[in-house]
Amino acid sequence: MHKVSKLDRKYVWHPFTQMRDWMGQEPVLIERGKGSVLTDVNGKKYLDGNASIWTNLHGHNNFRINNAIAKQLAKVAHSSALGLANEPASVLAEKLVKAAGPPLKKVFYSDDGSTALEVALKMSYEHNRRINRSKKPRFLSLMRSYHGDTIGAASLGQIDLFRRPYSGLLFKADKAFSPYCYRCPFNKAKPERRDARLGRKCKWECISKLENKIKSHKYAALVVEPRVQGAAGMIMHPSGWLKRASNVVKVAGAQLIADEVMTGFGRTGFTFACHKEKVIPDFLCLAKGLTGGYLPMAATLTSQDVFDSFLGEYKEMKTFFHGHSYSGNQLGASAALASLGLLNNRRGRLRRKKLEKLLSVELESLWPFARVGDVRQEGLVAGVELVADWKTRESFPLKAKIGIKVCEVMARKGVLTRPIGNVVPLLPPYCTTDAQLRKMVRVLRESIMEVLGSTKV
Ligand SMILES: *Cc1c(COP(=O)(O)O)cnc(C)c1O
Repeated sequence: MHKVSKLDRKYVWHPFTQMRDWMGQEPVLIERGKGSVLTDVNGKKYLDGNASIWTNLHGHNNFRINNAIAKQLAKVAHSSALGLANEPASVLAEKLVKAAGPPLKKVFYSDDGSTALEVALKMSYEHNRRINRSKKPRFLSLMRSYHGDTIGAASLGQIDLFRRPYSGLLFKADKAFSPYCYRCPFNKAKPERRDARLGRKCKWECISKLENKIKSHKYAALVVEPRVQGAAGMIMHPSGWLKRASNVVKVAGAQLIADEVMTGFGRTGFTFACHKEKVIPDFLCLAKGLTGGYLPMAATLTSQDVFDSFLGEYKEMKTFFHGHSYSGNQLGASAALASLGLLNNRRGRLRRKKLEKLLSVELESLWPFARVGDVRQEGLVAGVELVADWKTRESFPLKAKIGIKVCEVMARKGVLTRPIGNVVPLLPPYCTTDAQLRKMVRVLRESIMEVLGSTKV
C-alpha cells in the first residue's frame, strides 16, 4: 500500500463515509488534475464525472484561475473582513449582485454551502422579528431537501437519514410537499417509463399542497433548492413549479430563500436556476461552484430591505452578530472572479449548450434497460435512478448498496462519481470534451449491465 494511503487510513476520518468499509479497501489517491481528468499516484486516469461533488466548473488546473490565484498570492493571501476591506471581495460582490439581478443588493461572505444557509436563516429570522411579522419565526422547507450539515442548515434539511441521528439537536422546520414526478402520488398515468414523467393528468396538486401548508402559519420563509433537489437524488421539479411556488410565497407575505449552492453558476443552463423561471428570491445562497471548485468560499445575497433592518445607532445593538474568520478571503475571491469571467464568455456559453445537448442524446441509450427507472437531466446535471422493477418503480433497499456497487465498477473503468442511494449522478465539468462525455455515459451503461444485468424492457 502507498505510504500516503497508510497515513490516510491511520489518521483521516472521511465525510459521509462508513470508515470500516473505507479501511477495508485501498483508497484512490489523487495526485493531480487537468481539465476533466484526475490522475492518481499510480498514473491511472479518471474522468471527474461529478465535478468533485458538484463543485468544479471549468476543469482542474485551469490556467486562468491558477493565474488569478497566483497573482493575488503574490500580494496577500488573507486579511480579515472584520474591520478591513479588500479589492477582490469588493469587486466580486459587485459582479455577484449584477449577475443575480434586483432586488439582491448586498453580499455577505462565508465559507461553504452550510454557512451560506446559516447566514440566510439568521438574517431572515431576525428580519421577520424586527418587522414584527412574527415573534418566533418558523421556516418551511421541502420534502427531501438538503441544505448542509451545520445545525441550522441541517434543521432545514428533510432527509430522514441525515436528520435522525441529530434530531435532538435540531430545531423544527415544517415540511412542505415537493414534486418528484417519477414517484408522484397524484399522477395516475401508468408507469410507462418516460410517459410517467410527463404527468399526463397533472393538475399541479403539488402546488395546492404547498399553498395549503403555507397558509397554515405565518412562516418567515420557504427554503428551496431551485429546479433541482441535488442530495435528494437529482430530483428535477417540473417547469413552472418554481414560479408557482414563488407566487404562493409572495401572496403569503413570506420570504423565499433560494439555495443555489449546487444549481448556481450555469449548472442548469442559466447563471442561476431562479433566472430560468424569472423568480426573484429574498436570499440567494451560493457556494460550491462560486470559486470554480477551487477554494471554500460562499456568499449570501440579500435585499436592501433585509440589510436595512440591521441598521441603527451602535447602542441599539442591531448589528448582524455573525461572521467567519475567512470571510471575504482574497484568494477565494480572486478564483471566483476568474471563474465568473470564464462562465460569461460567449464561447463557453455555446460550448455548454452543445454539451447539454450531447448529454441528453447519450442518456437516451439508458432507457431500454429494465433496471433503469428514470433518467433525469437539467442542464449539465443528470441523475439515473436504478430500480428493482421498472413496472412498479420498486426501489432497491439501501442495504443492497446498488448505487455504491455501480459507482465502484465505474471507478474501476475510469469514471468517478458518487451515488445518492440508488441514483447515479453525472455532473460533467464544463470543459469536458465530447469524447469524454460519451465515455462517462458509456461507462455508466456498462457498469449498470455488469452489476444488474442487461435485461431490456
Ligand atoms: C452541497 C450543498 C450544501 C452544503 O454545502 P457545503 O459546502 O457542503 O456545506 C447546501 N445546499 C445544497 C443545495 C448543496 O448541494
